[in-house]
Amino acid sequence: MRVILLLAIMIFFSGISAEAGEMTQSEMYEKRMELYKRTEMTTGVPWFYIAAVDQYERSIRHVRKDLPKPGGLTGIYIQSEYWKGFANPDDKDVNPLSISFFNGFGQDGNGDGKADLHNEEDVLFTIGNYLAQYGVDDTRFRIALWNYYKRDKTVGAIMANAKVYRKIGRVNLDEKAFPIPKGYNYTYHNTWGDRRGWGGRRIHEGTDIFAGYGAPVRAVAYGVVELKGWNKFGGWRVGIRDLNNTYHYYAHLNGFAKGLKIGDVVKPGEVIGSVGSSGYGPPGTAGKFPPHLHFGMYKDNGINEWSFDPYPHLKAWERAENSKK
Ligand SMILES: [Zn+2]
Repeated sequence: MRVILLLAIMIFFSGISAEAGEMTQSEMYEKRMELYKRTEMTTGVPWFYIAAVDQYERSIRHVRKDLPKPGGLTGIYIQSEYWKGFANPDDKDVNPLSISFFNGFGQDGNGDGKADLHNEEDVLFTIGNYLAQYGVDDTRFRIALWNYYKRDKTVGAIMANAKVYRKIGRVNLDEKAFPIPKGYNYTYHNTWGDRRGWGGRRIHEGTDIFAGYGAPVRAVAYGVVELKGWNKFGGWRVGIRDLNNTYHYYAHLNGFAKGLKIGDVVKPGEVIGSVGSSGYGPPGTAGKFPPHLHFGMYKDNGINEWSFDPYPHLKAWERAENSKK
């Protein structure tokens, strides 16, 4: 009896905390969007450019040991030396005049007379003003990003974020999908790290999902098509970068979705191609192994990119989809 009561209490409270968690999540996105829109008003830079930089910075901080984990609503990290000016003797300077005197980056965005590195409006305003100096179209945005980050891959990732935000028109884009739709037979096991038979001593960087020829292959997340074409190992393949700067690699396809091209914004569940057995030879080679989707995931931290095991993610997306009514 006591056990049942305890269980009932536990279920009751876990229900509450789950609900509160969801509320904070959507509230967080709402507040974040408010900040972006306010920055657009004060700097003239469209919110999706601001959001794109903010999201990129947040995504790398989650996987970088030399940067603090993102805490508040915004994700942009600016070194304090850069903010206050390198020669500025006052480490905690918030005076816009002395910061400016020492050629510091920091500016006052919320009009309280302080340029505070720990105030999110000040940080977004400072970044917005930096971007505004260049102008507000894709070409100028790209130049501003290049001068700030000096890395092609970073510029590409932020441009992709901006494209998704602009097209979809919101920032709460966490939705995911399993690559093969319900109603199609498929099987997969954790094959990450296995040795492969073909192409020398390469390690298997992905999960193989076995399905019939022509079964639809879908984008798993919001993102932008970064690669499409033939490779002697992967056959016909597509690469998509998502908003967390994770690259999703779909290989051995039978063909691509009609009209799909590099630069397209895709949504989770959107069909990008179909299952095949292409690869392991010159363009058009197929049938050297049973049809399957090779699905790989690669993480970029702003310095380098590495593959990680997609299996737990596939399991989670599959579970989430199966629990949907
Ligand atoms: Zn594979």
